[in-house]
Amino acid sequence: MNTVKNTIYLDNNATTQIAPEVAEEMAPYLGKFYANPSSIYTIGQEARVALEAARQKLAGLIGAHADEIIFTSCGSESDNTAIFSAIEMHPGKKHIVSTRVEHHAVLNYLKYLEGKGYRVTDLDVDSSGAIDVGSFSHALTDDTAIATVMYANNETGVIFPIEQLGAIAREKGILFHTDAVQAAGKIAIDVSKDAIDMLSISGHKLYAPKGIGALYVRRGVPFHPLLIGGHQEMGRRAGTENLASIIALGKACELAGTEIENDTSTIKALRDKLEKHLLENCPDARLNGNSDKRLPNTTNISFEHVDGEAILLMLDFHGICASSGSACATGSPEPSHVLSAIGVPPSFIHGSIRFSLSRYTTEADVDFVIEVMPGIIKRLRELSPVGRDKFCASR
Ligand code: PLP
Repeated sequence: MNTVKNTIYLDNNATTQIAPEVAEEMAPYLGKFYANPSSIYTIGQEARVALEAARQKLAGLIGAHADEIIFTSCGSESDNTAIFSAIEMHPGKKHIVSTRVEHHAVLNYLKYLEGKGYRVTDLDVDSSGAIDVGSFSHALTDDTAIATVMYANNETGVIFPIEQLGAIAREKGILFHTDAVQAAGKIAIDVSKDAIDMLSISGHKLYAPKGIGALYVRRGVPFHPLLIGGHQEMGRRAGTENLASIIALGKACELAGTEIENDTSTIKALRDKLEKHLLENCPDARLNGNSDKRLPNTTNISFEHVDGEAILLMLDFHGICASSGSACATGSPEPSHVLSAIGVPPSFIHGSIRFSLSRYTTEADVDFVIEVMPGIIKRLRELSPVGRDKFCASR
């Protein structure tokens, strides 16, 4: 069931709806329980207890200790903080290793640092969206302050070999950060097993509100805060805590922990059905990214000689929400940097659509998309001169 009537929302990598259980848990902290968790009187201390319980729940989702979790305002802040902290704590090191397919929260921060004199190695990905582990290892040098590679890609859903990459970085004594904004809550993460030093999470990708995030920092990792001021978050992130949203994120993580297996199998079955039918019933369509090592909720499909924005408008007409490339890139005439990096051919790249499902996606939602999509693609090709020449004469 979707909360917005007549809307089929398949853009959950852009943001998720707040789970009803999360909204319910959060509500009292928007009203009655307004005290500052740093205050020493009773209601302040009650707020502190609730905040620490939320920290424990988040830690539980990823196999961390509660004191390794810093609440932030979003995934972007977590990413920026991890990289900033690493370079501040290693002033002699001027090199950073990353990939070409990171989210702009990492990509643009690294561009900014390049302007400040840092050298960044942006590793290529192959046509399946995967990076070469050997190239990653080769790129790490004595001058490398941090390696940062996303856990899973927001556009294709491709999952990176974080366990292997972390182990390589650890062996070479280099800090390893992963942007797990899209992975957390969708696939199992265990920082106690993987050699991850820092990991970013964002609430609004796992059924908590927008404007809340977290950064995991392994015990013993040297750390420098991005925001300097009060002593909140054990001096690691200044600013009065966003208590209501922290409570919400804690609940969302608790739910994710209990729902993950069910979510994964149910969502994956629906995603696979959608993908199979679209690829079968829309001629000249291709799947972007590795079909196996992928988030269970994401599919990214390109339709040759069709404009992705036009597809989105037609889908919207039917009440269907999806995305062409990442939501943050929508409106930009440039093709997605992720799809460019994996080498999607020019005739396909502009007709790329990402569908990302949630635990609220129903079979009826998917069936409706399967029903309308072939007609949309056919109609748009009839309207486009290239599409008309290529597809309408012979079919
Ligand atoms: N990293 C990834 C992989 C994302 O998909 C996003 C958001 O789309 C972010 C970081 C930024 O997260 P936030 O919107 O919470 O700043």
